[in-house]
Amino acid sequence: MILKKPERKVFRNIAIVGIADQRFDVEIKQGRFVSVKASQGSAGQLTELEQASPQEVHIQKASSEKMPTGKTSAEQGFIEKVLDEKTFAEKASNGAILQGTAAAREAIHEESLRFRHVDEHDPADRSRWHEEVIDGSDLWISPGFIDLHTHMAWTDFDHADQEKRDAAEVEAMQAEAIAATLRTGVTTVRDAGGLAPHTARHLVRHYRQPLRVDNASHMFGSADARGLEYLKRKADEVFASGANWIKIMATGGLGAPTEQVTDPVLSEEEFSFLVRYAHENGRRVFVHAWGGVAIDWAARCGADSIEHGMFLTSDQAGRLAEANVAFVPTASIYRIAADPQGVLALPPIIQDRAARAVAAHAQAVEYAKRAGVRIGFGTDYATPHLHGRNLQELYTLLEYGLDREAVWAAATSDAAVILGRGGELGRIAEGYLSDAVIFGADPYSMRSEEELRGGIRFVLTGTDEQELTAE
Ligand SMILES: [Zn+2]
Repeated sequence: MILKKPERKVFRNIAIVGIADQRFDVEIKQGRFVSVKASQGSAGQLTELEQASPQEVHIQKASSEKMPTGKTSAEQGFIEKVLDEKTFAEKASNGAILQGTAAAREAIHEESLRFRHVDEHDPADRSRWHEEVIDGSDLWISPGFIDLHTHMAWTDFDHADQEKRDAAEVEAMQAEAIAATLRTGVTTVRDAGGLAPHTARHLVRHYRQPLRVDNASHMFGSADARGLEYLKRKADEVFASGANWIKIMATGGLGAPTEQVTDPVLSEEEFSFLVRYAHENGRRVFVHAWGGVAIDWAARCGADSIEHGMFLTSDQAGRLAEANVAFVPTASIYRIAADPQGVLALPPIIQDRAARAVAAHAQAVEYAKRAGVRIGFGTDYATPHLHGRNLQELYTLLEYGLDREAVWAAATSDAAVILGRGGELGRIAEGYLSDAVIFGADPYSMRSEEELRGGIRFVLTGTDEQELTAE
């Protein structure tokens, strides 16, 4: 469930993810955290006014499945509705278990996520979330996640397949991708190509899904290696489209033979011109580079981040750290692409290329960590099977040697710094936008993406779709 920009909401006694043995009173007004203070008392010390509303008491009774007596018919109707929804929820979960096969279970799970978050079927919960003051004694709050590398507008791994779909179908899939991304607690994305700013505005506004979107409307690659005059014209077009990022495809990728994935596709002059010109125009630059000299260029001209970077060397990591260039490994997608049984089901030659990337990636992350490079969370997800599964990347980064704090920072506070918005996004702190994810258990104790995603009680946003899409 998404709670959009509440006028006022107060959590009493809630835990902030990553801060052990301490609880907080967190107050939100008009989409910003206005007060974050250590709690004085325990949950038992709520004032009477802050305790359960009469409506909530009814729901609790209904949940215990004993029909209360002496109710008005309106109340009775409400309780019956509550019981109905509970039965429906139980049917859905029993159904999931009875189906037996993992695939069927997944399908039902996906189905329930598609229409409504599972927890919304629990009426006691649902009523609770609409309270202005919420007892947070059993809740954890995290800043909303920031995915620094998505392709929200792509529907198929092979773009030729997307072109076979009609426009209405593509738009429906894009809208669902945005909804699924928000449901999993990602409140901000940087789109790395494919999503034009005007399309993002349309999707956010028309489908009422308040996802904060940064854009790169064009990917500068080998086809753009046509000199500085051309690059200037093209960059001006990108700026005029409303994009606030320049994306440089500096090397090949999954579509290129492995021998070439570290060869630069632009000249150094072209590369450094793009970085300089973007910065002069108040835009930021991210650089797709599997490895090679393009990483040195990025450090030399101060690009904002390197994407993928699995063939990063230890020396290069040191130079990135020194030049304050961030690293967004997008680690999980290569494991998914390399998996013969994976959801992408790619041709063997691409699986093989992905497998070689996977073999190098953990080492690159280790180099970056040791050198003190700022690491950012990005998924590179681009298909319906993957949108909404963004949190898988957290667990891959954990496996590659980052600790929980570092992984969380990569997806929140450090990601916000990479966006240039470290002063207003990515923290539960006074003055910050109230983009947040509320969990029903400590996320640090959760062992898998499924568990973590299932632990989300609701997602809170600090800005509504009207503001996000204001011209
Ligand atoms: Zn990408």
